Amino acid sequence: MRLFIAILLSDDMKDSLLEAQNRLYDRGVRGRFTAEENMHLTLAFIGEVPSAEPALDALAAVSFSPFELGLEGMGRFGDLWWAGLRDSAPLAALVRRLRRALTENGVPFDKKRFSPHITLLRRARGEMPGVPVMDASMTVERVSLMRSDRGKNGMIYTEIGACEARPAE
Ligand code: ATP
Ligand code: MG
Repeated sequence: MRLFIAILLSDDMKDSLLEAQNRLYDRGVRGRFTAEENMHLTLAFIGEVPSAEPALDALAAVSFSPFELGLEGMGRFGDLWWAGLRDSAPLAALVRRLRRALTENGVPFDKKRFSPHITLLRRARGEMPGVPVMDASMTVERVSLMRSDRGKNGMIYTEIGACEARPAE
């Protein structure tokens, strides 16, 4: 199975991202736009593993307090265009802890430097117009272990485990 760890987004956040996609479309941008139900923030990409158990154990070992996540700007990795996130120390700390727990549980993952982004579209054609991503924010209270399957009409992501934030003291 193909696994990754992600933050699933609030409806508010997804609405804002959908609006940004619509503005891009209205400006003539074409490509494979991420479906609203698939929008997420990847924290660690695990890839193909024979079992989810070690990843579930790693997730269970991570603790964090709720924190705010806010959208900020747009960028691109080649023809993959994304919405960015406001700099967040709690987010960076969570990813550090998560990656440590994965390593301690022998779970392989992509060790590239964490570069927080939410994919808006792939195979984008054209220059990126200066369209703003509206302000939206959410409180992160849950981190999800996701399974990724190839469906008939694109990827299907399914949550197979989660770690809840500790209530703030
Ligand atoms: P597709 O690969 O068909 O374009 P996808 O990228 O949405 O679809 P996956 O490849 O299963 O689906 O990826 C799941 C998540 O992990 C996505 O957020 C993706 O951007 C991210 N991801 C995939 N591969 C890597 C990688 N090597 N390093 C970091 N993140 C990755
Ligand atoms: Mg991929």
